[in-house]
Amino acid sequence: MPDQSLLDGAKTKTKLSIETSSLAVDGLGLIATAVIPAGEDVFSKQQILNIADSAHLITTCDCCFIWLGDSVNLRTYTISAENSGTILKKCGGCQVVRYCSTSCQRKAWKSHHKAECKVYAEKYIEDVYLRATIRLLCMRKLGTISDSQWYWVNRMQSHMEDYCRSEQLFRQAISEAASMALRWTGMADSEEVIRELYCRIKLNHMTNIRMESETTGITLDPLAAIINHSCDPNAFCFFEGTKIRVRSLRPIVAGEEITISYTDDTLARDTRRGYLTRWFFDCACEKCAKNASDDVLKIPRGFNVEALNDAMQSFDFSQPDKSDFAIFGAGGPGVGWPADLQPIPNLHSHLATGYRAKTMFSDPTVSHEVQLNLLSELRHRLPLCFVGDPAIRPISTHPMRVINLFMLTMLLRRILLVLKDTSKFPDFKFQRTEVGLVYKYYMMKVHEDAPISHGKDSPLAVSVAELMRRDFAVAGDPAMMLASMKDDQLQTMRGIHLRMLQWSGMRV
Ligand SMILES: [Zn+2]
Ligand SMILES: [Zn+2]
Ligand SMILES: [Zn+2]
Repeated sequence: MPDQSLLDGAKTKTKLSIETSSLAVDGLGLIATAVIPAGEDVFSKQQILNIADSAHLITTCDCCFIWLGDSVNLRTYTISAENSGTILKKCGGCQVVRYCSTSCQRKAWKSHHKAECKVYAEKYIEDVYLRATIRLLCMRKLGTISDSQWYWVNRMQSHMEDYCRSEQLFRQAISEAASMALRWTGMADSEEVIRELYCRIKLNHMTNIRMESETTGITLDPLAAIINHSCDPNAFCFFEGTKIRVRSLRPIVAGEEITISYTDDTLARDTRRGYLTRWFFDCACEKCAKNASDDVLKIPRGFNVEALNDAMQSFDFSQPDKSDFAIFGAGGPGVGWPADLQPIPNLHSHLATGYRAKTMFSDPTVSHEVQLNLLSELRHRLPLCFVGDPAIRPISTHPMRVINLFMLTMLLRRILLVLKDTSKFPDFKFQRTEVGLVYKYYMMKVHEDAPISHGKDSPLAVSVAELMRRDFAVAGDPAMMLASMKDDQLQTMRGIHLRMLQWSGMRV
């Protein structure tokens, strides 16, 4: 039996074991040795490494990984776009990383930055994998990564030869990176060792994706890396600050391997498999083994897949309105596509994220245009939550579905706060009281689902409960709350919900 020390430091109620996997060629996997019911923690664990990408260095704390764009600031339970109360201070030495508090700064200094600051001060490093390599070397130097963790880091696969084959000039680039890392950190390892470390990080890292679908950086942990992929996974992972949390999507039997999806498992087979080539394997799951033409058959006659793919290729996050018009405007390739068939749900999600990015750090009260962006975001979140998601993610408490609904509620909350006069938008035929009612309607659903999807003690469930108290002065069991609502109240809410779906362009 393989060494079980990889499980050290993982918080889990269930029995897990590291064993040879039937999914990975020549690799290990994480096996449940007892039954895990649906909607339970498989484990949670502090990741070894969390590094913000270049675009998020100035908005993310280098230690606790709090991000200024979090829709609910998990410490103060306020919506950060309005006033998170969090200010990030630059490190005076390198002027590169930022911290939300002196305690975070002190912690990071001890764990890695004492060695890393000099490196950053000398040269700004754009490559996030190189920064991660340097971080690990610094931790090694300061003795803040244990021998056992270091062993597991170096036991991860690297696929260095495959990288060198598939990416031109890669060998030269990583050689340079390795020699820089060695010189800067003053470590005695050989360049070859560092080159492989770099590839190990590139292959095994995960993207730290926020609730808002914003990717803020990379994260690495050998235990998380050992979980193998399936296009029909039994578990789902997400991040809470610097911690990974893995939860079961459905009941897992004793002896079953824990699987997650490395890519968007709701995409068509060939698209999925195209993405998976970056991990150098051919997925052998049951879903992939089924007839490849299944997905193509779902496309209704007369729809132009190529035109839609072209439109997606030229998608521009910084100009969502242009992409929106090109895809869903008059005569656009997205017009008339079934809203429950990929890539339409993903397009709605991308467009909503694009509009959100435009309003995230702006004061919406001042500009008509910003308010219009909020309504445009709403037009995409509604079909995503109520038409797309139920079709592509049949589990109603799937974490992605709950997050999408949560994002919709946060958007409605924001609209209520800033859109004082809805009559300025003649097309949006809803009164503020109606928006308020539908906000409550969706919020009750999130309140009910978040403890199952993310866990009772998760920041999401906790902040939703707090928002319920704040906005509706109600607390307690979500099921009881729903039951106590009068039928005619629910009827009214449902009526507004349907009208709003219609407004978003959905036939109901
Ligand atoms: Zn912090
Ligand atoms: Zn510094
Ligand atoms: Zn597959």
